[in-house]
Amino acid sequence: MDNTLRVTLVCNAGLLLEYHGTTLLLDGIYGKEGHPFSNLTPQVWKQMKAGEPPFEKIDYLLFTHAHPDHICGQEYLERTYGLSAIIQPAEGRLPIEGFGIQVISTPGHKEDCVCYYLPEEDVLFTGDTLFQESIGRTDLPGGDMHQLMLSLRKLVVLPEQTKVYPGHGYPTSIAHERQYNPYL
Ligand SMILES: [Zn+2]
Repeated sequence: MDNTLRVTLVCNAGLLLEYHGTTLLLDGIYGKEGHPFSNLTPQVWKQMKAGEPPFEKIDYLLFTHAHPDHICGQEYLERTYGLSAIIQPAEGRLPIEGFGIQVISTPGHKEDCVCYYLPEEDVLFTGDTLFQESIGRTDLPGGDMHQLMLSLRKLVVLPEQTKVYPGHGYPTSIAHERQYNPYL
């Protein structure tokens, strides 16, 4: 069994995480039921176009928040892999075997936003809360700039070596964001 955390980008907002034999899809595969192919990586697109499940297995389906580009494909994935998605979990440790995920509630971009922190791996998944040198927009329903600023305070105190995977764009780190993000 491969015991290092593997993170694979599968579409604009979706990340496939493999760790200690458990596979978790973080955020959906962007697209609508019936045509769930938009914004997918070529490999995933190819599999789905061929009528095959895009991944060998998914044990858990997790969402950072319920915006369409993050939860699209939910019904398809639940049906294909026989699982129920976890949306807006309570703050604290998630009961997912092998992973050790801490849920950090981070409202602001949307009221239901959470970030997922893996302290043993120094990895943080921020959805649309924190991006490389930027932050999520707050002009959509449920957005609140003041809340987002409070949420960001919870993230900047994490160890500076923490690697950050945003919901869109390039990975970064807490150290880099402390230095270069104008909102922190
Ligand atoms: Zn969003």
